[in-house]
Amino acid sequence: MTSSVTEIRRALAAGEFSSVEITQDYLARIAQHNPALNCFISVTDDIALAQARAADAALARGKAGALTGVPLAHKDLFCTDGVKTSCGSRILDNFIAPYDATVIENFRRDGAVMLGKTNMDEFAMGSSNENSWYGSVANPWNTAHVPGGSSGGSAAAVAAGLAPGATGTDTGGSIRQPAALCGVTGIKPTYGRVSRYGMIAYGSSLDQGGPFARSAEDCALLLQTMSGFDRRDSTSAEQAVPDYCGALGKGIEGLKIGLPKEYFAEGLDDSIATVIETAVAELRKLGAEIKDISLPNTSLSIPTYYVIAMAECSSNLSRFDGVRFGYRCDNPVDLEDLYKRSRGEGFGAEVKRRIMIGTYALSAGYYDAYYLKAQQLRRMIKQDFQQAFDSVDLILGPTTPETAFKLGAKTDDPVSMYLQDIYTISLNLAGLPGMSLPAGFIDGLPVGMQLIGNYFDEAVLLNAAHSYQQVSDWHLQTPEAFK
Ligand code: GLN
Repeated sequence: MTSSVTEIRRALAAGEFSSVEITQDYLARIAQHNPALNCFISVTDDIALAQARAADAALARGKAGALTGVPLAHKDLFCTDGVKTSCGSRILDNFIAPYDATVIENFRRDGAVMLGKTNMDEFAMGSSNENSWYGSVANPWNTAHVPGGSSGGSAAAVAAGLAPGATGTDTGGSIRQPAALCGVTGIKPTYGRVSRYGMIAYGSSLDQGGPFARSAEDCALLLQTMSGFDRRDSTSAEQAVPDYCGALGKGIEGLKIGLPKEYFAEGLDDSIATVIETAVAELRKLGAEIKDISLPNTSLSIPTYYVIAMAECSSNLSRFDGVRFGYRCDNPVDLEDLYKRSRGEGFGAEVKRRIMIGTYALSAGYYDAYYLKAQQLRRMIKQDFQQAFDSVDLILGPTTPETAFKLGAKTDDPVSMYLQDIYTISLNLAGLPGMSLPAGFIDGLPVGMQLIGNYFDEAVLLNAAHSYQQVSDWHLQTPEAFK
């Protein structure tokens, strides 16, 4: 089964198979494996086949776009016109989006085919995909383990070969952490690079969309389509998008890579540290210059993030009131009862916890103590990175402190779940781009290496990751049960 976007594009152009054929193959694999993995909330067979037929016609006319005929899956957080968009929540279980997110529109423009919408933690809140109203997702490398979250469905779908690429969103690690736990490649671009229009908001100052695929080369292709200025998103960056694929293959001779000592300290599993050190040795062989650096405020990133993310979500989620769209409780006695029961019944426990904490942190009297303080710490965390980038081009470390944990292992302990994002969260606070790529295995479970770039340096990240993938084959491994 062909599982790379690059290879599918080549084969379609060479006429080795049609888009309808490859789309049918993926739909058949989804039908066979989704019951065990639960990666998809919706499978859009009819749309996929109609788009594939149109793609074949475009290919025949010599009018192919960048991704014409390539099947992809989308996180169920991107609005898709006429298709259920649930955000993993009961409150949106009956919501059919009336328009396409800009990201979806871009994929449509470039000719991609939509296979379906992937499972996720409710409103992207979580690190294990266990907070979904549609049930948890299994990790294809070991189905007793979590795939990571919140974009767990997308990561697992790519790892199991149910889609060659998929979209995700990353507010504090939700692309990089599941990519690491499922052994795939994922990139969270600079804040503002990819439009948030039509992406259901969690923490608006942190959210950013990005792709998952097997390789950096595939991610470069998908990110090219996703990126660009959008006047419908007021935080979209009005900056030219470089040619990401053209930036690959330059090598990394002389590239300065910093290893933050705080990312190799207490809390990191020893065997993960060993895997990352081995990868660093490979990069050194490729000509990279490795330097020790420090990001002194790393330990503040989790508390800072959880104040800001919860404050923003408490505001963003106030629009789900049972009145305009989404779930409405049965037989409300008055307006207040309608609000209370629609929200009470529609939201899950983690979402409610965050709305309550966020509302508290924003309330009069506490605003200065929590929200304002968090914003000040956010600035300090950002300055740590700015200082580091004075002396290095990239920063490298583990993506997660441990490999995929067992389903249920952390569901009763939110704080231990929050600690999963210790290495990923500070990037979102700073707005920087980061990616995770496969770097090894421990007891049959993948280990992710994280690369962090300076603002709008996605091309530098992708080129470094591609260079590593030219001399390693971790990203080419496929779980036995899904070969
Ligand atoms: N795990 C983090 C959270 O629950 C990050 C999630 C995300 O990036 N969407 O907030």
